[in-house]
Formats: sequence, structure tokens, C-alpha cells
Amino acid sequence: MKTPISWIIDDPAPIISVYHEHSRKGHTEDGRPLIPTYPNEKLFEFCDIIERRGIKGKFSVVPMPGNKGDIVNGLDGVDKKDLDEWLECVKTRVMPAFSVGPEMLTHHKAVDLATGEALSMNERDWASTQDRTTLVPYIEKAVSLVNEAGLYSIGVTSPWDFGIEVEDEYEHSISLAVEKATGSKKAWFFLRGLRDRPKAKPWVAREEDGRTLVSIPATTRDYIWQTIDTLRSDDDYVNEIADNLITADGKEGHIIRVLESEGYPILITHWQSLMSNGLYTGLRVMDEVGRRIAEHLSDKVEWMSFEQITDLVLSNKAEYPKPVF
Ligand SMILES: [Zn+2]
Repeated sequence: MKTPISWIIDDPAPIISVYHEHSRKGHTEDGRPLIPTYPNEKLFEFCDIIERRGIKGKFSVVPMPGNKGDIVNGLDGVDKKDLDEWLECVKTRVMPAFSVGPEMLTHHKAVDLATGEALSMNERDWASTQDRTTLVPYIEKAVSLVNEAGLYSIGVTSPWDFGIEVEDEYEHSISLAVEKATGSKKAWFFLRGLRDRPKAKPWVAREEDGRTLVSIPATTRDYIWQTIDTLRSDDDYVNEIADNLITADGKEGHIIRVLESEGYPILITHWQSLMSNGLYTGLRVMDEVGRRIAEHLSDKVEWMSFEQITDLVLSNKAEYPKPVF
């Protein structure tokens, strides 16, 4: 069997940059204002890359990005036509290869579910003191919005490290909320990184009342993030960043180290990393990494979506025990 490889894309939302909304600084490290929106053309370019390189993984859809409305009823400042075009593209070009899921509701301020109003604290801080009584409806709302928008989701991503202080309650709540929203008894989620450990793999996080929850960790770092904070966008720079994951000769890099340690390379980047504050250098890095993987590793690794990884784990649960943290 080839080793599964997958790419986590955190933080996408239609048009709106959730990074712009929640960033406290509001500017790049070299002092340029963060751009507030990304054009649909850049989602199309992302799709060109994943189709060209055969890349699969997990793609977040933040359903109430930055507390600016929601993807079913409309987003503040976003043309309905552009919203529909974004969702249609995710459905027809991203979803065949990537498992889609919410990254909670806003990736910004927590929401009062009764009124839809923003609370004063962000979702991460809010989650830290919650239990299943409040987490289940919150997660159910997030999963339901993504499904109501015409996408398909049986998994969630944790904005920041949402839920880590109450992980047991959080895991129970994801599993139950996914079943309530979709009827699915299997679910996946992404919260933890498992980096620089041998045999880093996903694990069965929870089995309860006939439901199963699989935790899929990132096993590398987001080296593409640095493209946000520089005007450099030359080919040497693109190649240097790609080298962190896999060198041009296919012999070194974080992906190679994970494979040598018998783990699964689960790459991670962010939508804002690929958008590079309007320079889109990150998309070029992704394309080059995908090219190098295809050139050097196609006999060793097989791209999988998070749902495919979930099914693989569930087909042989004993192989995927929970690691000790
Ligand atoms: Zn995020």
C-alpha cells in the first residue's frame, strides 16, 4: 500500500479574508495593510493547481466569515453572484478531491445562536469554558450551514486551537453534532499537530453509541505563511519555500522526513498563505510542491481526502491508536 498524503487548507471563505477580520495588527510584518478580500479568480487558479497535480485533502469553508452574515443567506459586502460562483466552484472543482467542512462559525467572534449577534470574545476563548450542552448546537449550526449551502460536510476544523482545553467534551460534541446535522455516524476533525514524532498518523479519537470520530493531525508546518509578509515573489524564493517540504531532487524536506519516520505526510497551509496578501506567491509554491511530489514520490504516496483517510482508519482501527500528548 502507498502511504497516504493529504493537504490541509485552513481558513477559506467566499471572498472575505477571515485573517483580515481577526488579525489584531491589521498589517503584514513589513507594514502593508492586510487585504480584506480575495477574487474568485484565485480560487479558480487554486483549482487549476489541484487538478493539474492531483492534490487532495481538507478544505475549510468558514460559514459566517468574520461575523459578516452567512454563506446561505448572504455575506455583508459580497455580491450574491460572487458568493454563488464561489460555492459552485467549491462544489464542482474542490469537493471531488477535498473534504469540505466548517472551521466553526466565524473564525472571529463567537456567536450567540439565539440572536446571531457576535459575543465579545473570539471563538477560541469562548470554547475554552464550554461543554457539550453549548458545543453541540454550535457545531451543528456550523455543519448545517455548509450542507445547506449545497456542499457536503461530515467533519470540522478547529479555528486556532478551539476546544483544546475541553477536548473530551469537544470530541463528543463533534461526533454528535455531525450526526444531528447529516445523519452520518462517522466524522473527522482537525485540531492537533503531530510534528517531528515517528509514525505520525491519524487516530480513532472516539467511539460512542455507534458513532466514530477520527482525528487527523497536521504533520508538517505551514512554510507558505511567510509569503504574506514580504514583497519577494521571484522564482528562487518560490523554490526555497518549496524546499522546506521537498527539495527539487526529491531527497530532503519535511515530507521526506515524515515518510522516513513511517508517518503520513499531512501538509498544512492557510488560504491567506496562498493569497500572499495579494501577490499569490503561495499558489506558485503549492504548484511547485505538487509537481515535485508527482515527480519523485508517485510510487510511494497516494493523495487522499480527509474522508478517504477517515474510511482507511475505520477499516483497520487497531492500526490507529490515540497518541499520548
Ligand atoms: Zn484557521
